[in-house]
Amino acid sequence: MKIVVIGAGPAGSYVSYLLSKSGHDVELYEEHNEIGVPIQCTGLLSSEFKKFEIFHDLPSNISNVFIVNKFNEIVLNSPGVKVELSQEEFLVNRAKFDSYLANLALEAGTKIFISHHFIKKSVNDKKEESLLIKDKNNNEIKKVGYDIVIGADGPLSSVAKEFSFNTKHRKYYHGVQAVIKGNFNPNCYYTYFGNNVCPDFFGWVVPESKTHARVGIASKNNVKKYFNNFIEKYCRDFNFEFEGESIKFQSAIIPIYSSKQKFQKGKCYLIGDSAAQVKATTLGGIIPSFKAAHILVDSINNNFCYNKQLRKLRRGLKVHLLARNIFDKINDNDLNKLFYLVKQDKVQKVLKKYSRDNPVPLFVNLILKEPRFVLFAKYLFN
Ligand SMILES: Cc1cc2nc3c(=O)[nH]c(=O)nc-3n(C[C@H](O)[C@H](O)[C@H](O)COP(=O)(O)OP(=O)(O)OC[C@H]3O[C@@H](n4cnc5c(N)ncnc54)[C@H](O)[C@@H]3O)c2cc1C
Repeated sequence: MKIVVIGAGPAGSYVSYLLSKSGHDVELYEEHNEIGVPIQCTGLLSSEFKKFEIFHDLPSNISNVFIVNKFNEIVLNSPGVKVELSQEEFLVNRAKFDSYLANLALEAGTKIFISHHFIKKSVNDKKEESLLIKDKNNNEIKKVGYDIVIGADGPLSSVAKEFSFNTKHRKYYHGVQAVIKGNFNPNCYYTYFGNNVCPDFFGWVVPESKTHARVGIASKNNVKKYFNNFIEKYCRDFNFEFEGESIKFQSAIIPIYSSKQKFQKGKCYLIGDSAAQVKATTLGGIIPSFKAAHILVDSINNNFCYNKQLRKLRRGLKVHLLARNIFDKINDNDLNKLFYLVKQDKVQKVLKKYSRDNPVPLFVNLILKEPRFVLFAKYLFN
């Protein structure tokens, strides 16, 4: 079966790799001339990523491959409470990470075309469908036939639009990030919540090393204002300085998961950010897209309905969305109360056992151990 994948981000490369391994004829088209560039991501992964087979046999010195740093603690700050969570987390260099995945796909048999921009779907007089893809090296427009097309082309997916997926309901966060110089503890990263930081998300300081950190914030509105305020007021403790001209600002949009989203229409499937398969609490999309890749390949190989097979992943994303709806409305007083509950040993044990990438058991066990979490559900109803 000929499968065309649009977009060589983590979702597109990983699904191409799995499909090629299953024996399909896979073509992967990427509009940029370098995979993984420009970087528009912090690159944090929970230890859940190590469960995927492709990461089992990484060389012991994995920093050579794509890991930039490894953490054993996360510091969560509300306006009045600081919680130190003991957790294993990883920071990746997205350019190297994306290239690693694309190489796996290539080695498995995927044909990769960089500098190729998907324009639109085309149907001829005989009702035969093809994709119009522009080769940016010579501006030639190619007609590419397919049995199946997969949109892995990110948050503003042209594939989703061309194949008439309803994306009108979709809402987005804007993320802004920069690398700053300062003094950091490289073993932990920091998050800052509260209305003075940003009413609808949080700010983060994620050290790459003792001297450099990725600092950012996301919001649905006014993100630049919140970012400047965050740098001014919350990064002082790190004696930060911007690295003059070498400072790299990254800014990008992140889709918010919606339960109205459809993931398959006829011969077209969506995956990753193009399908808004993103955890609404943290805006992490890499691990959900990997999980979706396995479900998609299984659906294609066995002629299952992808929309239905995604049920478990969708349930998890919905749990994240509910939590996000609470965080969006919570006042600083209640946020402090929530953080006091999180500080307890019994809650920390649950957070250590179940990662955010397994949200259903995580949230169920949090409520079983600390039923007062349910009190915050009031924010869902006002
Ligand atoms: C500031 C910020 C911080 C983030 N931090 C994290 C984090 O710490 N952890 C995490 O898990 N997630 C994080 N995310 C989210 C994460 O970056 C995305 O969920 C992830 O990149 C989604 O992967 P993807 O392959 O679906 O899409 P993308 O990575 O967006 O890849 C899509 C690819 O498609 C290509 N493309 C687009 N249109 C076309 C076209 N018409 N033709 C051909 N190619 C096309 C693009 O060039 C791109 O390479 C962050 C996002 C932002 C903005």
